[in-house]
Amino acid sequence: MSHKSPAELRTEAVEILNGLQGMEKIRTKDRLAIPQQEMPAQDPDVRNANMFEVTYGYFEEQARVEAERCLQCRNAPCVAGCPVQIDIPRFIKHVADGDYEGSLGVIKETSLLPSICGRVCPQENQCQEYCTVGKSLKDVFKSVSIGRIERFVADWGAGLKGLPEERLQDEAPLPPSARVKIDDQPPAPEAVAASPVPEVKPATGKKVAVIGSGPASITVAADVRREGHEVTIFEAFHKPGGVMIYGIPEFRLPKKIVEDELHTLEEMGVEIRTNFLVGQTRTLKDLLEKDGYDAVFIGTGAGLPRFMKIPGENLVGVFAANEFLTRSNLMKAYDRDNAQTPIFQPKRVAVLGGGNVAMDAARTAIRIGSEKVYVIYRRSRVEMPARAEEVDHAEEEGAEFMLLKNPTRIIGDENDRVVGIEVLDYELGEPDDSGRRRPVPIEGSESVLDVDTVIVSIGNDSNPLITRTTPELEATKWGNIVTNEFGKTSMDKVFAGGDIVLGAATVILAMGEGRKSAAAINRMLTEAPA
Ligand code: FAD
Repeated sequence: MSHKSPAELRTEAVEILNGLQGMEKIRTKDRLAIPQQEMPAQDPDVRNANMFEVTYGYFEEQARVEAERCLQCRNAPCVAGCPVQIDIPRFIKHVADGDYEGSLGVIKETSLLPSICGRVCPQENQCQEYCTVGKSLKDVFKSVSIGRIERFVADWGAGLKGLPEERLQDEAPLPPSARVKIDDQPPAPEAVAASPVPEVKPATGKKVAVIGSGPASITVAADVRREGHEVTIFEAFHKPGGVMIYGIPEFRLPKKIVEDELHTLEEMGVEIRTNFLVGQTRTLKDLLEKDGYDAVFIGTGAGLPRFMKIPGENLVGVFAANEFLTRSNLMKAYDRDNAQTPIFQPKRVAVLGGGNVAMDAARTAIRIGSEKVYVIYRRSRVEMPARAEEVDHAEEEGAEFMLLKNPTRIIGDENDRVVGIEVLDYELGEPDDSGRRRPVPIEGSESVLDVDTVIVSIGNDSNPLITRTTPELEATKWGNIVTNEFGKTSMDKVFAGGDIVLGAATVILAMGEGRKSAAAINRMLTEAPA
């Protein structure tokens, strides 16, 4: 990345836009020559010590220039790559014309959470993978930046209206105390008022229970409530929002954005009950048989960490990434002076894995003051499942990638505290079932890294409590709930979607699952006699 200052990026965009506006006709050749717009971001040496969002989002001029790169392909291959089939060329055309309201309207036809998806969707493996511009330039990373334009439009709609002018002052470093203080107050009323509250039809007298409060559940709650049914969300944690609140860090997805969406749900009349663990506080059958719910949606996610099953994983200083991130995000443990639940102070850290969770763990460890953070991954960089932007950002912030290496054991001292990790070198062999080249160990290549903390980020399995306490619910051997094409489970009136069905997946796929189940629930409740 070039790391031009926000002011430089905006000036460049203004010049390009003026040039384009002076042209009689913009031909395909001209569009392909427009430089891809870089997203303004905090300087890596500043942001690696604060929790503020790393990227600022496009300036209006940048969004319009980037929109002009779109060729408006008739067959719109990008749409097929979007799990919720947003009409991408149409929303981009509105941006090119400066009609942001029209653009937001197009996005909201199919996507409920564009401020979130514009930030965290793995676009290079979805819409942008199929973009004709990327294909013509023979580089998927030169595709039209659909996600960044989506984020611009969504932020505009939420009242953020692009990059605040004070950011043009070029990232004046904040005092250390201010850097780690994230406002934990509920969103200000005027900010919330910016998102219009969807209309709710007259009450039907039907009640729907939604278990969990991640993106799948938020989507179901909104779509079902709109039809006039009563909706209650039951969330195990003390704060709703699922992984978007407890997993993905503030510096990637500001919590206020998720809180605003939840606030909109409450304004629509959805009740959110936190500290409510279904399977323990009440069983699934209690909700249906004793509490009078007419339908239940299970969106409990994949929050059960996997471990490596190597010697030393029970030593002091070994964490599951979920625990590490939950302490930091949900319990605000990074705010040392004020947090009620302190976090272990890692100095030399090994993060195991190559996905988004591993990048989030590594970048959080850097921000809470670790001197050295290794990311140990057994394949090469191109096979890393994390979003490319997160990998780049982690490296810029100081994470050291130890690629083609895999841990064999964690080493402890006489007090059972981590003092090192032994790793084995690998080389890439033939592709496996996933199409990625299989890592093959090189015998005798062991070496030891000096670390005091190990964060295991090799994936999550589904949360097992509900399937364990509801034997009637059909699940796979991995604990994923089995559903039909409408999200219906093996139990009458019970639907499920998101990670609990798909296994650990993505925000947009969870939303898509939620949409599908909500439509089926609405159909069922409309057909059922009152
Ligand atoms: P979740 O978001 O997991 O929410 C489930 C909720 O159910 C939780 O709040 C949980 O507390 C609650 N719950 C569980 N059991 C019960 C119970 N018995 N009773 C009541 N409540 C219960 N995806 C992307 O697209 N882009 C990214 O960049 C990205 N980064 C990620 C980073 C991290 C650290 C993690 C962990 C995941 C990331 N993902 C990312 C994946 C994405 O967040 C998930 O796919 C998505 O959140 C799944 O949504 P969901 O609604 O199925 O469940």
